[in-house]
Amino acid sequence: MNSIIRKSFYGVMAFSIFATVSCSNNEKAAEKKDMNKIPGFDLANLDTTVSPTDNFYQYATGGWQKNNPIPETESRWGAFSILYENGQDKLKGLVNEAVKEGGENGSDSQMIADMYKSAMDSTGIEELGLSPLKSRLDRIDALKSYKDFPEFFAKNFRQGMGSPIGFYIGTDSKDSKSTIANTVQSGLSLPDRDYYLVDSDRFKKIRSAYKSHLTNMFVLMGDDEATAAKNSTIVFDIEKQIAKEQMSKIERRNPDVTYNKMTIEELQQLSPNYDWNKYFNTLDIKADNVIVGQVDFLKAIDKQLKSTAISDWKVYFKWHLVDGSASWLPNKFVKENFAFKSGVMRGVDKMKTREKRAIRLVNGVLGDQLGKLFVAEYFPESSKKDVEALIENLRTAYIDRVSKLDWMSDETKAKATEKLKAFTYKIGYPDKWKDYSSVTIKGNALLENMFAMDEWSANENLSKLGKPVDKTEWGMTPQTINAYYNPVNNEVVFPAGILQPPFYGPNTDVAVNYGAIGGVIGHEFSHGFDDSGSKYDKNGNLNDWWSKEDRAKFDAKTKIVVDQFDAFEPYPNVFVQGELTLGENIADLGGLTLGYYALQKYYETNGGEETLAGFTPEQRFYLGWAQVWATNARPEYVKQQVTSDPHSPAEYRVNGPMSNLTEFRKAWNAKEGDKMVRTGEKQAIIW
Ligand SMILES: [Zn+2]
Repeated sequence: MNSIIRKSFYGVMAFSIFATVSCSNNEKAAEKKDMNKIPGFDLANLDTTVSPTDNFYQYATGGWQKNNPIPETESRWGAFSILYENGQDKLKGLVNEAVKEGGENGSDSQMIADMYKSAMDSTGIEELGLSPLKSRLDRIDALKSYKDFPEFFAKNFRQGMGSPIGFYIGTDSKDSKSTIANTVQSGLSLPDRDYYLVDSDRFKKIRSAYKSHLTNMFVLMGDDEATAAKNSTIVFDIEKQIAKEQMSKIERRNPDVTYNKMTIEELQQLSPNYDWNKYFNTLDIKADNVIVGQVDFLKAIDKQLKSTAISDWKVYFKWHLVDGSASWLPNKFVKENFAFKSGVMRGVDKMKTREKRAIRLVNGVLGDQLGKLFVAEYFPESSKKDVEALIENLRTAYIDRVSKLDWMSDETKAKATEKLKAFTYKIGYPDKWKDYSSVTIKGNALLENMFAMDEWSANENLSKLGKPVDKTEWGMTPQTINAYYNPVNNEVVFPAGILQPPFYGPNTDVAVNYGAIGGVIGHEFSHGFDDSGSKYDKNGNLNDWWSKEDRAKFDAKTKIVVDQFDAFEPYPNVFVQGELTLGENIADLGGLTLGYYALQKYYETNGGEETLAGFTPEQRFYLGWAQVWATNARPEYVKQQVTSDPHSPAEYRVNGPMSNLTEFRKAWNAKEGDKMVRTGEKQAIIW
């Protein structure tokens, strides 16, 4: 739930590291090397009909794009997806072993096996119909007035059901050793407020499809057509009203704006119709202070809770309940849900097999248990050491770069260096695993199982209040192909899943590894200094340590990045949002700069610089980064991505940062006038 502030490398998955190839300066190894190949990089990925200095992304990945069409079941297909699919196959093997093994109740293998069996039990799911939702539907039916909401929302929280007033226990950003209660805006079904409010053809089309989808779902729930259509309008209108009051994704990027600490009395004054004491009592917690993420939203939703008829709210909550479970209800719900969420929203026509969906589900709900098996089988301990070495190289390169900056004062440089020195990291998998053994998982009760896990998670979260923050906790499972920076811990985290090709391979060319995993590590480090991460100090506290002048210079530099990305137009009139993606773009820019200088350091110590297949090490470094981003995507996917994902589409994660880098220019012998060359005021150099 801290994910609200955690920053990942990738929208869905992301990041691995690299172990130094220890024998690269060993003569024997050099003798064996085929100088016409680049270990870990496939030359067939290239499109040599394009100039690398005009469109590097196309040059480096055009061959890959041509050879790797998007499978019917996918909205996007890239190097990431292939690594993800391989990972899913490994998980499938582990799940199948667990099924064979069985095991005592509460054991890892029993829980994994029965969760999987229950997801595969399509006959049982059809027979149960909506009955697993009955007690929850009854709770909704029992609502009498807005005065019931505090108790109702508290029970929703305990059961893992959403409410328009989101809630969680998280780290206090201004006292990062302590936990605190948080409220955040919530309550929408579509991915972002823009979907309800923006008057473009695309959003109008989606709104109209969404209304039909709502109607169809209400019919499946048992309404006649007329009632279903009426209910569709009720839900849509409530959500649209909520959307109007929500803070935009861009505004929420500023942690100063979303940190509003209040006493319970202040909170009560802000939202007089909502009895907070009742809420906390029902949750059975004692909170003295609460951080309100969006003050105006809370004020508005407090009014809306009262002014909207309770009968309408009931329709809304029923919809949210069914929508949240739709992928695992009887088949007619699954199909309708898929047609809208995958078909309309992401352009996918064909559903993945039930088996694949079931593996994904088990991984989603029992991630730590499966992760334990995953690392035992697939993560070599030696990778930890290798990655540590890489991280330290990157750290040294960053400290060095900061000392040479011409725009930052010595005072701020000293603080930045302190923060870099204080960075901690986690690699591979956690020291302690989450223990779900108290949860009963049955082989024939999927939704019951999922609800039981939801309750476990809610209780685990609530139990944090009043205790010091557990800094050893992980925000991703080890099998996740991603990485993140967590500003309140001032830490970078690299799960085992990302420490694999194309991010990192023990036998991959060093330069390619530095471009890929080195770039990723540099990316995560840079999040500590992006537009939002830079506001946290070395102890993870929201506490501005910059001088005013330096902050102004930094903002001027980041403004160039915003303008550059605002101008990227993947489809006519569909633009990347420079402000939404700023943090990620700064991190990519930093990652590529730091990875490059860390590679130079590597060669200084180890030697072994040579040209392979006609490419210099510096050129291979950039190919390594581009290789990670080789992607084909459906237009619907890209359009959704630019609306709500803080990560820019793949192409711009390559050409965007590289077109600013003087080092790139030198490596590829680019000239002024080439498309990959920005100069003067248009060139963004931050780190
Ligand atoms: Zn990132």
